This record gives sequence, C-alpha cells and structure tokens, in this order.
Amino acid sequence: MIRKVDLRSDTVTRPTPAMLQAMMKAEVGDDVIDKDPTTQKLEEMAASIWGFEAAIFCPSGTMCNQIAIMAHTQPGDEVICHRLSHIYWYEGGGIAANAHCSIRLLDGEHGIISPESLAHNINSIDDHHARSALLSLENTVNKAGGTCYTAAQIRALADEGHRLGLKVHLDGARIYNALIHNNEQPADYHRSVDSMSICLSKGLGCPVGSLLLGSVDFITRAKRIRKRLGGGMRQSGFLAAAGIFALENHIHRLAEDHERARKLADGLKASSWVSEVVPPQTNIVLFKSKKNPFEMAEKLEKHGIRLIYMGQGWLRLVTHLDITDDDIKYCLEVFSTHDLD
Ligand SMILES: *Cc1c(COP(=O)(O)O)cnc(C)c1O
Repeated sequence: MIRKVDLRSDTVTRPTPAMLQAMMKAEVGDDVIDKDPTTQKLEEMAASIWGFEAAIFCPSGTMCNQIAIMAHTQPGDEVICHRLSHIYWYEGGGIAANAHCSIRLLDGEHGIISPESLAHNINSIDDHHARSALLSLENTVNKAGGTCYTAAQIRALADEGHRLGLKVHLDGARIYNALIHNNEQPADYHRSVDSMSICLSKGLGCPVGSLLLGSVDFITRAKRIRKRLGGGMRQSGFLAAAGIFALENHIHRLAEDHERARKLADGLKASSWVSEVVPPQTNIVLFKSKKNPFEMAEKLEKHGIRLIYMGQGWLRLVTHLDITDDDIKYCLEVFSTHDLD
C-alpha cells in the first residue's frame, strides 16, 4: 500500500484522541437562545490573550472576515488590502456580495504592504469617490507562501491606517504561525488593530471553528450579522472545547511544522522536476515545476502525495499536525526519483 501524504492544506488535520476527549467532556448549552458555557469560555480566553474586549466563535475564518468587513463598512465604501489577500481571492467575492464594497488592491513584495503605500491609496472625501473605510491585513500571507509581518510592522500599518481615518482588520488565520516564526507574544499585538480573526481549524488542529475579536460594540454588531448569515450555532461547546484544547496544547508544536516545511523546501530545490522554490518562513511551501503543474499534481497523486494548485504556475505544500518526519522523507524520495511516473 502506498503512503498517503496529504499536503493540500493544514485544514485536513483530524482531532487527536486527547482533543476528542476534551470535546466529549464539554459542558454545553444553546449559544443562540442564550449562552453555551464552553463557547463563552473560549471567547473570553481568546479576547483576554489578544487584549480585546470581546470575541465571537464562528464556523469559519471566511465568516469571521466577512462579518468584520460588514461591521466596519457601509455599502459603497472601499476596502484596502494586498493584491494576494485571502479576502479578495478566496472568499467567493464576499466583499462585493456581502458588504457591497469596492476593493483597492495594494502591491508589496512577499504579500507585505508598507505603511508608506497607504496614503497614496486613500480617496479624498468627495461625492465622486468610494469612501476609504477599511484596511485589511493578513498574517501570515497565505498566497505569498506563509510570509510574516512582525507585530511591529502590523502596529505601524494600523497606526498609519488610523491616522488616515481607516478601521483596521487583521486576518490572522495563521497568526500563531507568525508568532512562532517571529518569536513574539500575543501581547505584542495588544491595542494595535480594531479586529482580528483566528482560524482554529488550520495548524491548531481543530475540526471546525474560528474566532473574531474586537470591542464590545463591534462584537455586538458581529453577533447580529453572524445570526443573519446563519452562523449562530447551538451546542457549539463541543467545537469550542477543541479550540480551548488547541490554544492550550497545539501552539508550540507549530515550530515542528515550520522545520518540516524547511526540510521539504530544501529537498525540493535538489529535485530535477522543480524549477523554483519559495524559501518558507512558516508551514507553506510554494514551488514551480518544470512540468505542467496539473500533470505534476497528477503524478504525485499516484504516489499518494496530495497538493494544491495556486494559479500562475505555483503549487502549494502545507505541513501540519498529521505530517511526520517520515512523511517528509517519503515525499523527498518521490521528488528525487528521475522517472516520476
Ligand atoms: C483559510 C484562510 C481563511 C478562511 O478560513 P476558512 O475557515 O477556510 O473559511 C482566511 N484567511 C486566510 C489567510 C486563510 O488562509
């Protein structure tokens, strides 16, 4: 039997036996009628860690981002983000469909926006223009290959955004990967951005769930929008218990994912099938193959290795909780085979 190595995303992880146990023991209520105690505990825990007044547990990172965009804007406003942003590429056109906003896309190497670029991209207050309302940042930047802003860079951007009259949201789907890479603490982010989302279902290993953090007023509005989108969940404590378990047990091990991504990238550079590799900062490896990328993906699939095509010739491998050193060794053996057929 061939080994199965699923490197499509860090979302493919299954709950560990210990996480499942924590989930089964959760005390639950109805979080739509009033409150589910375990969900409340997770929300309070995350808000306190990240220095926000409140938090709300949502089914997905996409819902968190979409709620944030809706809560921070009015129809006809403009959202400013990097050209590679998840909110622009991978949220089903939600900025237009849900928030009725236009988008200003900024450039910047490795997915990183500079504070200097903001001032040129603010519309003057004039009936001709969309109102520049929201700056949305992403850390780590998925489509750039898991690249990181430092907390100081995020703070500088948030300060400049605020000076220019913008609200600032941080899509922190993989914020814990950025913390580990930069050797930073959540406190380094305190009181910088207005809102932030965190995915629990990626490197942290939960089956479902994301958190949106902000002020009490913002989260009150977010809760109403979540309900309207159908994201109110009843006995969500079973899922929230996985989140609490992940925040207590699965953060420091992200360093192992980063190390495995580095090993994978180093090995890929030596493969005769690979033409270009982006050196990974975290758990995402982007590469280009000498073959047609779809053909490459098909051949790897035959060897049990799964990856994702990201467009523009880029293929993506993501390390995670369910990937071992032996899996990486196996992948590199396959990549070093000259007749990858
Ligand atoms: C995965 C991801 C999201 C959305 O998360 P889902 O839970 O898959 O909806 C948002 N932003 C970034 C940067 C992501 O990588």
